[in-house]
Amino acid sequence: MPSALPRSFASHNLSGGRGSHASSVSSATMPLGYANSVLWPLCHHRTDLLALERRFAEGYLAVNARIARMLAEITGPEDLIWIHDYHFLPLAYELRRLGVRARLGLFLHIPFPTSSDIASLNERDEFYRWIASYDLVGLQTEADVARCLEVYRGHACGELLFNGRVKLGDRKFEVRSFPIGIDSEAFTSVASTPLSHDPVHIRAGAKMIIGVDRLDYSKGIPHRIRGFAKFLEARDPSLPRATLIQITPPSREVIASYQEITRELEALTGRINGQYGEIDWTPIRLIVRSVPRETLAPLYRLASVGLVTPLADGMNLVAKEYVAAQDPQDPGVLILSRSAGAAEQMTEALIVNPHDSEEVADAIEQGLSMPLDERCERHAALMEVVRDTDVFVWGARFVDKLAAPNG
Ligand code: UDP
Repeated sequence: MPSALPRSFASHNLSGGRGSHASSVSSATMPLGYANSVLWPLCHHRTDLLALERRFAEGYLAVNARIARMLAEITGPEDLIWIHDYHFLPLAYELRRLGVRARLGLFLHIPFPTSSDIASLNERDEFYRWIASYDLVGLQTEADVARCLEVYRGHACGELLFNGRVKLGDRKFEVRSFPIGIDSEAFTSVASTPLSHDPVHIRAGAKMIIGVDRLDYSKGIPHRIRGFAKFLEARDPSLPRATLIQITPPSREVIASYQEITRELEALTGRINGQYGEIDWTPIRLIVRSVPRETLAPLYRLASVGLVTPLADGMNLVAKEYVAAQDPQDPGVLILSRSAGAAEQMTEALIVNPHDSEEVADAIEQGLSMPLDERCERHAALMEVVRDTDVFVWGARFVDKLAAPNG
């Protein structure tokens, strides 16, 4: 069993002193162009959106080299360094060049790309070396691990060793899945705190469906809305009316593909509300702003269905939050895309193909009419997953493995 990670486990300030403790580098200095316009679409299977501008790669490499120099100054050979996400892929390579011998771990929060995705990168040779410079590479799912191993098996200088270990030239590293979780106890507690007012005002007897996603093309929000429209079209008239509350904080607004998805979403929502709305009922409420956790958690609890249908997603924490927020005596139903990392563990959700609007519509109907005993059974199984993989277990598992690779 992994030792419990102290709840106070915190990022080490890069300007701090030397010591043999675990450090964690945050994405505060995120290099925007390469990270968000190359690596993000690459890892979410949208190579059609790659912006291969030389200055993006140059900026990304310069930022990583600079952070490596800062880190090298404060790092001793006994340190463990845990690096997070696609913003910092070259950091280990840069640190090794500076002679750093500390154990280096990477956790990639987003999906690992396929060989054909990587082939679209100008820096494809570098990409292989960046990853291979870590000692431990943590990925969200077993499917990600399988993809990573496949990528190195197909490399001319790559060799798969036993038990998730990989050799590339003179470097050896280990790949494992560490599915990330939430602070489930804290989330359940916030969700159970009643709101002082009804923020939704859905009419009596009506049902609420909730979707919560950053405004991102990987989240499949227009596909979801088309699925909801199919449900409205074929709706069993004996079922109560359902309103979809879609909470969508904007992100990366300077990037053209993000502006396009905003326009698409607004047009789609307007059309469906015009077609199906009635004087006292608006089918879709689109909220394009961020909602704080204290409001979000009780809203999840009010919703009969949680609609989580990304086209590609490393894990998707909203799926776990929705489950943690439910009343176990009268829980809502989670509808989950098979393309979310969470689907590998959360098999008791209603699993759907997010591209298939008829399947999404059927799942909405099934969710809204599911009997109480089935809802309770599914929720209990899902809650077990959420608790067993909470964020503290996740952190402890990674740090333990980084500290004691043969333990
Ligand atoms: N979130 C929030 N307010 C909002 C929308 C989202 O606090 O208005 C939070 C949500 O509760 C979750 C996170 O943003 O913790 C989204 O994480 P997820 O893994 O689902 O997607 P990501 O945005 O990291 O791709």
